[in-house]
Amino acid sequence: KMASREYQEEDSIIDLGYGVKVGGGHLMMIAGPCAIEGKEILSEIAHAIKASGANVLRGGAFKPRTSPYSFQGMGEEGLKILQDVGHELQMPVVTEVMDPRQVELIDQYTDIFQIGARNMQNFNLLKEVGSTNRPVLLKRGMSATVVDLLMSAEYIMANGNKQVILCERGIRSFDSSTRNLLDLAVVPNVKGLTHLPIIVDPSHATGRPDLIPSMSLASIAAGADGVHIEVHCNPELAKSDGPQALLPHQFDEVMKKMRSMAELM
Ligand code: PEP
Ligand code: MN
Repeated sequence: KMASREYQEEDSIIDLGYGVKVGGGHLMMIAGPCAIEGKEILSEIAHAIKASGANVLRGGAFKPRTSPYSFQGMGEEGLKILQDVGHELQMPVVTEVMDPRQVELIDQYTDIFQIGARNMQNFNLLKEVGSTNRPVLLKRGMSATVVDLLMSAEYIMANGNKQVILCERGIRSFDSSTRNLLDLAVVPNVKGLTHLPIIVDPSHATGRPDLIPSMSLASIAAGADGVHIEVHCNPELAKSDGPQALLPHQFDEVMKKMRSMAELM
């Protein structure tokens, strides 16, 4: 299998654009709001996270909301804003694609495709991004095993696209004290099995700003190739996932700590 260590022994290093790489010691530090809400607010968040050392900007334009009555995202208008802000700051951008029919449109605006947890086994979507030439951030499904996750990566690679980045974002558990259950052991576990990079999303994994800093540090300690953190300047007014967003100054603090930790390793 193409994702396996037997197939390729050395860690994959993936080019994300603007000179940013992930894998083989290169860290991918993704930050930004859950959803793109407008040009001004995205630009404000992007400037802040870049100054703190983030190297990839995130923002959803098509949102996989649990309720059909919740904000669904700005759509193509949002994609344009994300692309503009990425250009202005010379930063690669990542945004979620939920449907094979959206791949062609989103390809015109993004540097990296995100496959969300809810679509990890949308095999037609995996095949479609597998036939593009862009890196794919593949999030672990909320009840996906390690084998399920690696098989989904295989779907993308089998279609010709080897640029897959895995992401642990928490799995469903019986305990509602956190949004999901962060499976940190999955990082070294997966690294033994595959050459692909794996990052951790402590924002969706815990859903709690008070837990995100320590879990970010723990992710780096576990050998993750980066983190994925939601940041918003005004969490109370955020149109999605406000309660789990870090404020820019909180993000700055955790970035400083992660940097000193990475230097120690
Ligand atoms: C997100 O990144 O905003 C998101 C919806 O994540 P997940 O697919 O992991 O729930
Ligand atoms: Mn979110």
